[in-house]
Amino acid sequence: MTRSPAPWLVALSLLPMTAHAHPDPARFNATAFASEPAIVDCTLEDGSTAQCYEFTVPYKPAELEIGPFCPSDIDGEGGLWDWDGEEAGLYKLDRAFWEMLAAQGYKFYDEDGTIAISDPGSGARPTADHSCLMATQDESVIITMRLPVTPVMAEDATGLGTVAQVGVALDGVPIFADAPSVLETGHLPALDVCGGHIDPGGWYHWHATATDIDTIAEHEGVAVDCGAVAQDPTAIFGYAFDGFPMMGSLEADGTKPEGLDQCNGHVGATAQGETYHYHASPEFPNLPTCLVGLTAQDKFATTAQNGIGAAGFGGAGPNGAPGQGGGLPEGMDDAAKTLGVTLPALLDALGTGPRPDFDAAAQTLGVSVEALRAALPARP
Ligand SMILES: [Zn+2]
Ligand SMILES: [Zn+2]
Repeated sequence: MTRSPAPWLVALSLLPMTAHAHPDPARFNATAFASEPAIVDCTLEDGSTAQCYEFTVPYKPAELEIGPFCPSDIDGEGGLWDWDGEEAGLYKLDRAFWEMLAAQGYKFYDEDGTIAISDPGSGARPTADHSCLMATQDESVIITMRLPVTPVMAEDATGLGTVAQVGVALDGVPIFADAPSVLETGHLPALDVCGGHIDPGGWYHWHATATDIDTIAEHEGVAVDCGAVAQDPTAIFGYAFDGFPMMGSLEADGTKPEGLDQCNGHVGATAQGETYHYHASPEFPNLPTCLVGLTAQDKFATTAQNGIGAAGFGGAGPNGAPGQGGGLPEGMDDAAKTLGVTLPALLDALGTGPRPDFDAAAQTLGVSVEALRAALPARP
């Protein structure tokens, strides 16, 4: 079957091809976009103005089969988790894993072996001390992402902490850094065996290089098989938000990458010519740990009522609070009321870092660390 290129493809191909590295809309899956990619004016992190691709994607690709996430009981079929307590590593969510966590003081099941499951998008706090988090999908959600047309190197690399926005996969699915640790929240936002799950806002996202996840499973000795996503360590997985391609763990010609920098990237040959690009690592999450280029100030927004990006581009959050470039976690205003402090004071004390210093924040607010932790919403 032959078909003529979509009008937006023709329009975009007329752009000056000064850099091979630009995020190429033509490389995305045919079903990736909810509407035609556009080019818009944008502001980069350093305040400079630039042109960005604007990609809108649905809550998940139509053909992508997702899950399972939380098993209903300890012998049920579940997904994956990257445990960071004792005996850290990647685990399948099976009886041996749940029992290991219970032995370390994190018991997720009752005497019948039933797993406590909570929906982080419901607005209700989990009733159990330790629950497996599983959000409900919302088919109405549209996600908008902006990536610079011409990538610009930053003076310093930007670290990617917990739930940092990493980029977009060629299937249109957003990519995020580590999901929040069980050690911090007490709850476990289960991933499926391809490394993705549903945000509280109802949309699916990756926490790993899904096209090369079998390599990690093999490396870490975990018996899982991501059947939903074709595995190819030599393929481009997607584009980081700085516009540079993200590849699997191997070069396009099947050789091992050499001379990788701190962000697990380097300049070299790709399917898009000679350009800076990132590689997946053999460990989970197999994503870059930092970005070398500048990203757009407004790079991620959703139409969802809560979850990451719900605040929209530069708009007010769901509670009238300033957009944090990632939305305000549901329940922060309740947490402030519980603690008897104002919402801005609470946000200020917690700071913008990926892992807040709870001791310092509690001291600033004049509350105990225990009270602070108990009041804060779970961060799936
Ligand atoms: Zn997530
Ligand atoms: Zn390479």
